[in-house]
Amino acid sequence: MALAHVLGVPRIGPQRELKFAQEAYWRDEIDEAALKAVASGIRQANWQRQHAAGLDVVAVGDFAFYDQMLNHVALLGCAPPRFGFGQHINLSQYFQLARGNADCHAMEMTKWFDTNYHYLVPEFKPDTQFSLDKNWLFDEVGEAQVAGFNAKPVLIGPLSFLWLGKEKTADFNRLDLLGRLLPVYAQILLRLKAQGVEWVQIDEPILALDLPVEWRTAFERAYHALNSASIKLLLASYFGPLRENLLVAMKLPVAGVHVDCVRGGDELSQVIDWLPATKVLSVGVIDGRNIWKTDLAAVLDRFDGLHQRLADRLWIAPSCSLLHVPVSLAGEARLDGELKNWLAYADEKIAALATLKTAFNSGRQAVAAELDDNVQALASRRASTRVHDAAVGARLAALSSVHDVRNNGFAVRQTAQRARFKLPSFPTTTIGSFPQTTEIRSARARFKQGELSELDYAAAMKREIAHAVNKQETLGIDVLVHGEAERNDMVEYFGEQLAGYAFSQNGWVQSYGSRCVKPPIIYGDVSRPHAMTVGWTAYAQSLTSKPMKGMLTGPVTMLQWSFVRDDQPRSQTALQIALAIRDEVVDLESAGIGIIQIDEPAYREGLPLRKTDWPAYLDWASRAFRISASGVADATQIHTHMCYSEFNDILPAIAAMDADVITIETSRSDMELLRGFGDFNYPNEIGPGVYDIHSPRVPSADDMTRLLEKAAGVLPAYNLWVNPDCGLKTRNWPETEAALGNMVAAARVLREAYRVSSEV
Ligand code: GLN
Ligand code: ZN
Repeated sequence: MALAHVLGVPRIGPQRELKFAQEAYWRDEIDEAALKAVASGIRQANWQRQHAAGLDVVAVGDFAFYDQMLNHVALLGCAPPRFGFGQHINLSQYFQLARGNADCHAMEMTKWFDTNYHYLVPEFKPDTQFSLDKNWLFDEVGEAQVAGFNAKPVLIGPLSFLWLGKEKTADFNRLDLLGRLLPVYAQILLRLKAQGVEWVQIDEPILALDLPVEWRTAFERAYHALNSASIKLLLASYFGPLRENLLVAMKLPVAGVHVDCVRGGDELSQVIDWLPATKVLSVGVIDGRNIWKTDLAAVLDRFDGLHQRLADRLWIAPSCSLLHVPVSLAGEARLDGELKNWLAYADEKIAALATLKTAFNSGRQAVAAELDDNVQALASRRASTRVHDAAVGARLAALSSVHDVRNNGFAVRQTAQRARFKLPSFPTTTIGSFPQTTEIRSARARFKQGELSELDYAAAMKREIAHAVNKQETLGIDVLVHGEAERNDMVEYFGEQLAGYAFSQNGWVQSYGSRCVKPPIIYGDVSRPHAMTVGWTAYAQSLTSKPMKGMLTGPVTMLQWSFVRDDQPRSQTALQIALAIRDEVVDLESAGIGIIQIDEPAYREGLPLRKTDWPAYLDWASRAFRISASGVADATQIHTHMCYSEFNDILPAIAAMDADVITIETSRSDMELLRGFGDFNYPNEIGPGVYDIHSPRVPSADDMTRLLEKAAGVLPAYNLWVNPDCGLKTRNWPETEAALGNMVAAARVLREAYRVSSEV
């Protein structure tokens, strides 16, 4: 008998109940008891769902009021001492760790592996102590047991917990804390055992990463120490193959292992070879990272033999926690039936798991109808003309090396562009968006609701554009933008106008805390039926004699922030998007727009987890960008923008994009990030962000002058631009005007200084 389980499920609730309760609690509109009641309701419903589907255990401890890593910080009693909370933090203090308070900035947040989920980063110092604290986990286990469920607690393992944290003092290795940490994990396991728990899932997702050898070898020591609790541990790895960590993982003294057969499927035979005769093998056969139906017959064909051999030692599961997919298709009333039939959110994945379990244990005929529906759905998707567009295929096939290079090298283009635009040295610009005021948001909402006519909406947006243009002229900015008033979101705005994209109504996924995102779904070949931005941009250009910069989202970012097809490689989808963007770039150029920015803020986050996979990714990612950008004349200037803090390890790939100008976020690092560009001799023009748009603080002209002088110390002054770190949509107009006024003043100081020095 194969067993079935999940590694975790979404915790936001089918209608984002958790988000609304959290936010109401933060605004003091509901008390702690009311928030906890919502949380408990979500947990009960989640367990009930798993139980009703016939899963053998329910996941407990996958719930968090904010974040699962923060839960572990609370559980292990290692809240950063800078908050002064001492032992036993309460819920209010838990939220202060996540969100900061008047005296302390919040704990840092960073991306959970290669997902769009963000976790809170534990802070470690040589004197960090651990002690068993928050009772939440044990309470939740009790809650599940009282309700009659077979609880399988879920923990993040000690090595992943340490790895994902950060050292807050120099000359110290957080791995040294392992000895202090393990006794607390052992205590946790003993307590769970005392509660009558049989299995504990212990997640070590870092097994899918390149690990330094001392981390890899620490696994054996750690799991021998945890073995003393003599409770059954299911060691879970996910998000990729184990590769050189495979042997270590398979030999650990645990009762079972879970492997990701979606992303690490090639390794399955090795996993089986090394599986000791007593261990349970949990196979992640349903993609926990994507929203497509699984080919159930293929899973059955692939694992029938293994099931014969392992019997009840075979467990089936999604590849990873279902945290990364939306809750239920039941919330999608407006999605068209054909497309909806191709999809599976968390609830549907649990149902598919139940079907697989029955098929393994009672034969396929026991679920013949379900299997048949699955065959029909997959066949409809494979054959759909909505998915396959021959024209897109032909265009892709015709791509040659002339399509991903500009006509001439940068030096020639720079000369042509300087002759055309005659910009001053240290030219000033912004990253694209201007404040999204309540009037703009309400106009867009009313337009979507049908309360505002298309004509009135267009008129309102034009007024905003005119306002932004006017402000920029008054401020003395050199290269203007239209302000992006008409855009709700930089991916959605384009996705809605491209063929091959769909938008769900309720496909929310937690990004961090109470923040959820609704990624678009790329289901078919992507193409651009009509121009997307030309009207607004040309209108903006008509209002000024200064150059107006067109503003587009790049192919990698469009891909990265969407649910993508699983029936072709990501690189293929990226190329399709690149061609659609290329069409828009060419149309903008024809409409007289001489400067076009193609944003790629997600360029770096697309990097694979393993370094050996980086070159292949960077190769297609930079090619996709070049395809989107290279259809224009030498005198048309292409900008790009990135705002993720580390660039130094991918500088050659950034240079390979061959944008004429790149603007990047640097002010928070005091220009230190720029040093890498300097050392690399970055050849093209560059605009290091001179002020942090995430803060309401208005930087002084002196602040920005100092940063620019620092930048001019590392890079040739004649290649420097002056701009903020990122778009200004979250700021208000008074802050924006004051800051940009100071920014223009700083640029003038630099012009003067460098004119004088070049005359000398
Ligand atoms: N052009 C976008 C804006 O200004 C860029 C946003 C981003 O980098 N994330 O808002
Ligand atoms: Zn940005």
